[in-house]
Amino acid sequence: MFTSVLIANRGEIACRIARTARRLGLRTIAVFSDADANALHVRLCDEAHRIGPAPVRESYLVAEALIEAARKSGADCIHPGYGFLSEKPDFAEACERAGIVFVGPPADAIRAMGLKDRAKALMEKAGVPVVPGYHGENQDPNLLKRKAYEIGYPVLIKAVAGGGGKGMRRVDRHADFDVALEGAMREAASAFGDDRVLIEKYIASPRHIEIQVFADRHGNVIHLNERDCSLQRRHQKVIEEAPAPGMTAPMRARMGEAAVAAARAVGYCGAGTVEFIADGADGLKVDAFWFMEMNTRLQVEHPVTEAVTGLDLVEWQFRVAAGERLALQQDQVALEGHAVEARLYAEDPERGFLPSTGRLAEVSFPDREGVRVDAGVDIGGEVLPYYDPMIAKVIAHAPTREKALDRLAEALDQTIVAGPRTNLAFLSNLCRAWDFRAGNFDTGFIDRNLAALGAVPQEIDKGAAAAGIAHILTRESVRLAQQRKTDGPNSPWDASDGFQLSGKRQVGVPFTVDGKKALATVVYDGGRAQVSVDGVAPDPQAKIVAGGAAVYVLRKGRQVSVALTDFEAIDVEHQDGDGVVSAPMHGKVLAILVEKGANVAKGQRLVVLEAMKMEHALTAPVAGVVIDIAVSPGAQVADGARLIVLKAADVNEN
Ligand code: ADP
Ligand code: ADP
Ligand code: MG
Repeated sequence: MFTSVLIANRGEIACRIARTARRLGLRTIAVFSDADANALHVRLCDEAHRIGPAPVRESYLVAEALIEAARKSGADCIHPGYGFLSEKPDFAEACERAGIVFVGPPADAIRAMGLKDRAKALMEKAGVPVVPGYHGENQDPNLLKRKAYEIGYPVLIKAVAGGGGKGMRRVDRHADFDVALEGAMREAASAFGDDRVLIEKYIASPRHIEIQVFADRHGNVIHLNERDCSLQRRHQKVIEEAPAPGMTAPMRARMGEAAVAAARAVGYCGAGTVEFIADGADGLKVDAFWFMEMNTRLQVEHPVTEAVTGLDLVEWQFRVAAGERLALQQDQVALEGHAVEARLYAEDPERGFLPSTGRLAEVSFPDREGVRVDAGVDIGGEVLPYYDPMIAKVIAHAPTREKALDRLAEALDQTIVAGPRTNLAFLSNLCRAWDFRAGNFDTGFIDRNLAALGAVPQEIDKGAAAAGIAHILTRESVRLAQQRKTDGPNSPWDASDGFQLSGKRQVGVPFTVDGKKALATVVYDGGRAQVSVDGVAPDPQAKIVAGGAAVYVLRKGRQVSVALTDFEAIDVEHQDGDGVVSAPMHGKVLAILVEKGANVAKGQRLVVLEAMKMEHALTAPVAGVVIDIAVSPGAQVADGARLIVLKAADVNEN
């Protein structure tokens, strides 16, 4: 067995690999970009090495930088995780050349499965059923169109170099083919540098069912059952489970054999996934599944397989890479209970699933039996715009599917993430969606049910907004009580002020919810202040998390951020005496008012920041010279991001 591993990844998968590596007694070596210097995966490992600036092309995708870090740290092996360099055969070869074991399949196997057209041709030869269609060399648009007609609509155009659902177009009518082809090719060229496509029959009522395979270097290949990943959005998985609802033992055996044959055909070694599309129109049928592609790496959704088989797939990856034999025969592989995984993303389902970035004011996950959480962030961490916005996976395991879904839904309800928006409410709605629970679903389920799942623009949560503004007013009234001498008694939220007047008094307090203007009503009556928003009282169930100027209010997996409208120009004086001007909250830089080298006076306006839909001028905390401008106009900046650095002038009043 190895004594050390360099983990060539970030986020949850880097953390997850580190956990097993440590249990096996390996020294764990992390890598990080400048933006990740403080990331969870860096803190979890025994040591960490910088590999470059934040963009992936300058850091996590730079093979030489990773191999150099492995050399420097004396790593025995490199685990690539998923994404990034995990499916780059050149990287696998470069590792071997450097005398470092690549924890993954041989480069040739990655290459053989890397392009979907060649992989399909290879699988046909190996007797694995493939989706009917055209995957030839000739890319003449007229020929492709004729092939589509012969295959019969609807068809799917796919980039041969594709991944992550990119370069894919479904075409329903012959008349729409040309435009779709053009779009698919353009997307493929820009995403993969290869515009070639293949055409497939679009399988009616498609279910995505994949088989986890494992192979060692001694010719043993087994499968670890299936996963159903049919709940997808834009051809990307959202919820995965094992076993697949409606799966029968004979069909599992057939699919397992096909997957093992696929792995054998390319001389596979290690963990891999063979993805099939099944026609689920009238339930799963033994002869109605077809090979789509093979992912030659560990998959995001591997934890559901771990739950039902009781195995640690990362441990197996290390053992196989170290030359050990598989410990189990096919008939010894367990399948116990049911497991479901939900991918928790920093994104906003109510606004077209737009990724959401920024500092995590709060992160907390339930710690309960039957629930596993693989997280890549913790409190105070930041969701960065450079990387995939998946922040964690929540996995539930129970004796039955129904119980597993209940358990997952409850775990999601108990999960707290404040700051960036998340898909928590959407995921828990999915777990409770009746048709999904009944097993009536295919890959179109999410798209057909967006409104029912809450993934459409919605009214703000007034009970939560009221709770947020009540919290702020209480906080402010405490602060003002202390400052009354200077502030005077006229602030509308000063409860003691209301107390001095006889009878009832009602005031309107302007505030913002998610940056939009709103008005709260405060009624003072006998010394008690009652807050409401459009007649809705604060919901005592709402969870309040203090942010910067705003507070986050969480309720039922949704979040509102609430702030007073007229908070004063932000005072940066107290922030840094050292001349660093940083963003007091997440926002967008509208203007930089100074140039590098400029002399500025204390209090001079330096940057205009738009946050919470308002403009804020950030001023110089000291007099001095501008020595660095770290951002440009238009940039989105996170709470705390450094914007401008001043070198303080000599303290010489004359
Ligand atoms: P697929 O969707 O291709 O079947 P997975 O479900 O395993 O495969 O997802 C892999 C995808 O995860 C990659 O294509 C990439 O978009 C994304 N990804 C890559 N690296 C990371 C990472 N470190 N953290 C989160 N997501 C990542
Ligand atoms: P990627 O490399 O992007 O993961 P895949 O070939 O695995 O590409 O396809 C991604 C998803 O697109 C599948 O999970 C499935 O939902 C859908 N899909 C792919 N091929 C077909 C098909 N022939 N018919 C219906 N849906 C398909
Ligand atoms: Mg795929």
